[in-house]
Amino acid sequence: MNKEKIDFLKKEINKYSYNYYVLDNPLISDFEYDKLYNELKELENKYPELITPDSPTQRVGGISSSFKEIKHKYRLYSLDNTYDYNELKKWYEKIEKEFGKNTELVCELKIDGLAIALTYKDGLFIQGATRGDGITGEEITQNLKTIKAIPLKLFEDVDVEVRGEIYMPISSFEKLNKNVEKPFANPRNAAAGSLRQLDSSITAKRDLSMFSYTAIIEKANKEPKTHWDSIEYIKKLGFKTNPNIRLINNVEGAIEFCKEWENKRFSLNYATDGVVIKVNNLAIQNELGYTSRAPKWATAFKFPPEEISTKLIDIEISVGKTGAITPVAILEPVQLGGSIVSRASLHNFDEIKRLDIRIGDRVLIKKAAEIIPKVIKFVNSSEHETLSKIQVPQKCPECNSILEEREGEVNLYCSNDKCPSIVKAKLEYWVSKEAMDIDNIGPSIISQLYELDLVKKPIDFYKLKQSDLLKLDLVKEKSASNIYNSIQDSKNRPFSKFITGLSIRHVGKETAEILTNEFRTIEQLKNAKIEDLAKIEGIGDKIAYSIYNYFQEPENLEMLEDFSKLDFNFENTITQKSSELSNKIFVLTGTMNSMTRDEASNIIKQKGGKVSSTVSKKTSYVIVGENPGSKFEKAKNLGVIILNEDEFLKLIGDNK
Ligand code: NAD
Repeated sequence: MNKEKIDFLKKEINKYSYNYYVLDNPLISDFEYDKLYNELKELENKYPELITPDSPTQRVGGISSSFKEIKHKYRLYSLDNTYDYNELKKWYEKIEKEFGKNTELVCELKIDGLAIALTYKDGLFIQGATRGDGITGEEITQNLKTIKAIPLKLFEDVDVEVRGEIYMPISSFEKLNKNVEKPFANPRNAAAGSLRQLDSSITAKRDLSMFSYTAIIEKANKEPKTHWDSIEYIKKLGFKTNPNIRLINNVEGAIEFCKEWENKRFSLNYATDGVVIKVNNLAIQNELGYTSRAPKWATAFKFPPEEISTKLIDIEISVGKTGAITPVAILEPVQLGGSIVSRASLHNFDEIKRLDIRIGDRVLIKKAAEIIPKVIKFVNSSEHETLSKIQVPQKCPECNSILEEREGEVNLYCSNDKCPSIVKAKLEYWVSKEAMDIDNIGPSIISQLYELDLVKKPIDFYKLKQSDLLKLDLVKEKSASNIYNSIQDSKNRPFSKFITGLSIRHVGKETAEILTNEFRTIEQLKNAKIEDLAKIEGIGDKIAYSIYNYFQEPENLEMLEDFSKLDFNFENTITQKSSELSNKIFVLTGTMNSMTRDEASNIIKQKGGKVSSTVSKKTSYVIVGENPGSKFEKAKNLGVIILNEDEFLKLIGDNK
């Protein structure tokens, strides 16, 4: 039984390793792979008599075969890894027991790239090789010579072997993927694929770089005694090392470093899949030595997975408040990044065509910058070709109206204003946090209110009596009164929230704030001419036209007239202009630790700055939090000043 299980795991792991190392095309996520690997390791620990020399636990990495093989002078090891802080503690306890309390450790980011070894003789680069299985690697000197971060001549004439990780910056990976026929699954695969080109002129065109993290010194004037010093030494020789490194002397420090980078990693332009924790003292490293595949003096803490594979069960089509049709992937539920995921965004049908995903496929999903996961690719299988391609719908799934294309937009739209999905989506938007922020009402209540003909437009919420609410499923006296009170409370929201809630095309929260700073009442806004609107900074022709049109519709005017008869008492929110940040335009992306995006926006506005949702050349600063979105990339491309959270806090005087 155990032997069968072990054989099964070995076969599976070998299959996944082959696809990962040789074909640069992983079939499952690293997390899933590590789970299988650790399961095998545990079984082998329990039944050592079942360990065979061909077990994946007995070797390092994998090897591809298109280059000349060379034997490494010094073996390159892998790293043991864990996803669990308790295991990390146990690893350190053993070290402390042997070498005393507070044995120094160095924490550094684990770069998710490709390990290589570079040989220098008298300071000259003479040979470079991949890690391969640790004993033999592939000789790729010519290709490595095209990478600018690899010095061809060192600042000192030493004999040394320097090791490091070749990686592709995330921005370059994304650019490359747009131009290759078969997109790479992740930056690591893109780096590996680019490095293993038989034609080094192709490698030269790919943006590859390297962080060096260790050196074996054969001939030099002075030899470092600690890992920390050897990093300093590598830098002095002319190599690039990763700046995110910390010297500590207890395991709590290591855990703190890991926790810090678990979120901060998303603001980096290179992939890191964990933290490597190494004993600092080289003499202690020597004493600790190695297992058959990894050093005992180092371990890797791996970050929780960002990617996982699951089955695509269906594609659901949702109709938004603008009528935009969005396909949503319905997935077999899986645990990813601390939550169970069963849906993923697919953006539009062009994206489905590009990914060529089909119902029944296994797909790799990833938590991207935002919280909603996205589908990256389908996992190759013989089944894929037998599944039918997804057809682009012609009609709205809700009201059967013909779907239309709009100039310059990739989405399809339902053209029927009365489409129940559109109407309900607008009502959901009215009660949302972004707009009138009405508690106790969600999609299910809205759907029932709609079906019972009680609410068809925002004004209808304010006509509801508690007795109407009692007609809804599961709503009793108490919750009817809560819902009623929440609706009444919303009458005191700021004017800008009211305008946001109207769902005027192209008018979101930011634009509504700009408008309500210029126009103090609905009456004033209603009477504004297109030219006046277009003149306002941040509005422009398209938005002006859309606002103007909204106020030409008799149905809208009638609703606003009804609103004016209600006792709304808008909270006064004229922005206090001060000169500090005046005329500065800010764009926020990602999550901040010390405040929400709304809080940050309010501070900027209080200080006279403006907040915009799009990055352009006019943008003064882009504030980048954790998990930044595409705005971060755009800012880099346009050369806009980028501030991290700390820099932003400094700029605003840290007075949140
Ligand atoms: P590894 O990538 O987990 O760790 C070892 C490597 O980390 C070293 O060889 C080195 O290249 C690298 N590294 C990065 N930064 C470093 C630093 N600062 N200091 C020292 N080393 C650093 O181990 P591996 O043997 O290269 O690969 C095994 C891993 O590859 C698995 O744990 C799994 O995550 C992944 N894998 C995935 C699949 C799949 O199908 N998804 C298949 C095979 C392997």
